[in-house]
Amino acid sequence: MRKAAIVTGGSRGIGAACALNLAKAGYNVAISYLGSMAKAEQIVEDCKSEGAEAIAIQADISKEEDCIRLFESAKEKLGSIYLLINNAGITRDGLAMRMKTEQFTSVIDANLTGSFIMSRLVLVDMVKARSGRIINMASVAGIYGNAGQVNYAASKAGVIGLTRSMAKECGSRNITVNAIAPGFIETDMTAVLPDKLKQTALENITMRRFGNPEDIAAAAVFLASSEASYITGQVLEISGGLSL
Ligand code: NAP
Repeated sequence: MRKAAIVTGGSRGIGAACALNLAKAGYNVAISYLGSMAKAEQIVEDCKSEGAEAIAIQADISKEEDCIRLFESAKEKLGSIYLLINNAGITRDGLAMRMKTEQFTSVIDANLTGSFIMSRLVLVDMVKARSGRIINMASVAGIYGNAGQVNYAASKAGVIGLTRSMAKECGSRNITVNAIAPGFIETDMTAVLPDKLKQTALENITMRRFGNPEDIAAAAVFLASSEASYITGQVLEISGGLSL
């Protein structure tokens, strides 16, 4: 029987690749999106072509009421949620000394608070079922920091703290909680960066190439699998050797 997964921000980039790979791996999938309805509907069709039940739900992950609606709609359509991938995320870059407070908190709300709320919602059934998986999309910025990204790096460092703490709370209930820390992955999020910055980033990558969403999705499918049942509280860096 297919297990049910929620992938937040599944309309594009890494989330879309995760949703599709999960459908291929035998999951039913609920994806959320903020504004890209047509893209989300296309991913749903692609997942259905793999034999999965799939649904797209519009929800602003930084709003608690939207998270609740997303969770309840997904559960109604697919049944109890086995896997949550907290993937939806935004950047609003700028130097700290010029960053508006709202520019800081909006990134925290979407990237960190949204992940917390979604996790809290799915945990209730996971604890009852004594099984479940949560995978949080962190970032190398949350490990090493990044100039111009105090808001984003703080949100992703928070995601790592959330991951480790939740893993400790839930391990005895057979629920694993892990994070993936992608490096530079070619998506809409990185497409907007200046060429000079991209060139500098490339020079720091051991493998001398940017990653693609498939690189991340493959690891997410593994962390969700039964083969990964003894892995929890970990942060898997997938960056082509950025830190070496
Ligand atoms: P992306 O291409 O910009 O896609 C972002 C996704 O998140 C979209 O599906 C978007 O929905 C959704 N989203 C944005 N704000 C949202 C909100 N408030 N509520 C609900 N959904 C929202 O990003 P990506 O590059 O695939 O990144 C995915 C995750 O990986 C993020 O958490 C990001 O921080 C992390 N990451 C990415 C990289 C990288 O190099 N790309 C590196 C490290 C970490 P719409 O399509 O409707 O706008």
